[in-house]
Amino acid sequence: MRWCQSCVLPDSRPNLFIDEGGICSACTAFRQRSEINWQDREREFGAIADAATASPGEYDCVIPVSGGKDSTWQVIKCLEYGLRPLAVSWHPPARTKIGRLNLANLIDLGVDHIDFSISPCVEAAFMRKTFEKAGSSGIPMHFAIFAVPLSIAVKFGISLIIWGENSAVEYGGSVDDNNLTVLNEAWLSKYGVSQGSGVEDWYDEVLTPQVLAAYRRPDVSVVEERGIKAVFLGHYFQWDPEISLSVAQTHGFRTSDDGPKTGYYDFADIDDDFISIHHWLKWYKFGFTRLFDNLSLEIRHGRMERERAIEIIKTVGAEKPQADIDAFCEFTGLSTAAFDDVCERFRNRDIWQQDAGIWKIHDFIVPDWNWS
Ligand SMILES: [Zn+2]
Repeated sequence: MRWCQSCVLPDSRPNLFIDEGGICSACTAFRQRSEINWQDREREFGAIADAATASPGEYDCVIPVSGGKDSTWQVIKCLEYGLRPLAVSWHPPARTKIGRLNLANLIDLGVDHIDFSISPCVEAAFMRKTFEKAGSSGIPMHFAIFAVPLSIAVKFGISLIIWGENSAVEYGGSVDDNNLTVLNEAWLSKYGVSQGSGVEDWYDEVLTPQVLAAYRRPDVSVVEERGIKAVFLGHYFQWDPEISLSVAQTHGFRTSDDGPKTGYYDFADIDDDFISIHHWLKWYKFGFTRLFDNLSLEIRHGRMERERAIEIIKTVGAEKPQADIDAFCEFTGLSTAAFDDVCERFRNRDIWQQDAGIWKIHDFIVPDWNWS
């Protein structure tokens, strides 16, 4: 396992590469931002917005939203540019109170909104299956997040979808992929967080093609024929979590009263109780947690020294989200023992080794980590 010498991410993170100088692809991509002419990019977005407002139709664009600070920022930006958006959310089965409040606040900014719920019975069965078979509770969520807004765009005849950050750029990915500026099938196959699977790979006698229809993206031929384009706002405007937070807060967005739910931020990953499960599995599979992702962003933005980040990691520890795990088990009908068994089954033996009966990561970023 190699660690980036600039931030605190390891090369076990999917799509993250560390170069010969010891710097990861996310840090390199971040440094290249200073070479970008952001004024040109803003003008490009202006042209996209003008074309969308000039075309006939009830709505100019779809904004996929969760109610989080980034989606609040997306809505604010689109309204600033005179777009008439239709906000679309996939309703997570464990939406939190703060998630509901922030989503209501986002709608109050002045947008029409569709909250798309999938049957909880289907969600529970699908999440349990992907968790047990692939060690990931987040696969159905990612399918839904990427399918529902596109389906709504097709149904409403809307040809522009405006996403927030490009996770391929923000959290890793090869430097060449910074040119992946639209969210299409090529982007999804690498960054869609479905472990390379498609919805059809999960069909069985219960999860039939009909039952899983909401998770499936409309056919590529339909999307092309309609000329639907999905862009990332982060490509046109410099994306910084603290800035999108402050903009969102001045427009009514609230942070968690209880501190961070998972990781370092009290303003991210707070709208859904099950998101922490998705992040927790990273510890077993890749040897890091959401905290490492968040602190790496802080380092890149120059708000934290790497040494301080490592101290925080040591102080916080691996933070098992037990309350959320209990809720997830109740929702999916798993026992907590079965949950732990699945985690163990997906413990990555390439990075974890047993030492006197205790699992340890060789070459961990914190040398004197308490493994017991
Ligand atoms: Zn890095």
